[in-house]
Amino acid sequence: MRVYSHNTAGRDATMKFAWQTREERLLAPYAMFSRLSTGRRYAEPLHPYRGPFQRDRDRILHSAAFRRLSGKMQVFTGDMGDYHRTRLTHTHEVSSLARTIGRYLRLNEDLIEALGLLHDIGHPPFGHCGEDALQECLVAFGGFSHNRFALDLVENLEQRYTTTPGLNLTNEVLAGQTHRTDKTRKGDPLPPPLEVQVVDAADSIAYDAHDVDDAIKLGLISFQQIYGLPIVRRAIESADATSARPSNERQLLVHALIDLQIDDFIGHSEQRLAEVAELDAQSVRDVGMELQMSSELESEKRELESFLFENVYRHPRLLDMRQRAATRVKQMFKLLSNYPERLPSRFQQRVTKNGIEPTVGQYIAGMTDRFCDETYIQLVELGRAQALDW
Ligand code: MG
Repeated sequence: MRVYSHNTAGRDATMKFAWQTREERLLAPYAMFSRLSTGRRYAEPLHPYRGPFQRDRDRILHSAAFRRLSGKMQVFTGDMGDYHRTRLTHTHEVSSLARTIGRYLRLNEDLIEALGLLHDIGHPPFGHCGEDALQECLVAFGGFSHNRFALDLVENLEQRYTTTPGLNLTNEVLAGQTHRTDKTRKGDPLPPPLEVQVVDAADSIAYDAHDVDDAIKLGLISFQQIYGLPIVRRAIESADATSARPSNERQLLVHALIDLQIDDFIGHSEQRLAEVAELDAQSVRDVGMELQMSSELESEKRELESFLFENVYRHPRLLDMRQRAATRVKQMFKLLSNYPERLPSRFQQRVTKNGIEPTVGQYIAGMTDRFCDETYIQLVELGRAQALDW
């Protein structure tokens, strides 16, 4: 079989691109093959070097919204610091863990990476308190969801092409992000494609482990507190003595927590997938295939999450900071809703179609922590007549 490596001129329709042949060699039958993609909203010819999901990955990576993730804190403390995570580093960590799982299970790594890089792109400034503040402001307009806003960014707000809005991503990547907005599966009762499930699992593994890391480093919780949790004890006990040992206790703990969860998730997924080894991506969904950790580890993980919720996300040191940040978001929202002519012109143009309040919400949601603080000072404290675009 002849394989095209570059020149597409006069291409014979029966010939395959190198990326198609590569997928046939490497992926399991139940993976989402690029050849199964139903395409994009605005049709485009296939690329000779890069498959459609690989192109999506690159489009997300090169988007302005992706770069702004570096200015959004993961656990919002009011002080950016030099050490703890931003949404950007979290995003890369999720993508890395998800690719490890996906490669082992022979799923489509390009799709996994695109979904991983996209998954948090819609986060507003100031972490979850920014999201809660926008939710409160927009409650009469359907509320605010960072997962939905991610779709708005890549379908409408990103400016990349002269003829089409957004990034024109494949239907599969958009559908994968849509699953994140509909966890109750009202819109689609089938489990999401396996690649989407893997990114979800990696997200949860990454933020639990890394929030523990950041919280210890920030002095919000102690080792004594965290060692009381069964999942932490199990992780430390199961840490592989033969592998490279992290140099300090905190790193060892994070390393062990991630290893334990990834290992458990892969082991259980592998067993389940053996039952459907010959099915294709759609049939695997039709039979309700859900990839999970063992129920025992899953319940221990819930315990860790309750602990983090009580002791980190609601820590008195953060509550005060969060309160002030939320107040700034709400005041700015109110001011711009009353004076939409102060919005940047690109957003003013969206008011007729989307309404004033949802447009103001989108404008604020796209800001970095620093940009939000500066815009607040300019608009609310100094009375500037026109807000700047991101
Ligand atoms: Mg995330």
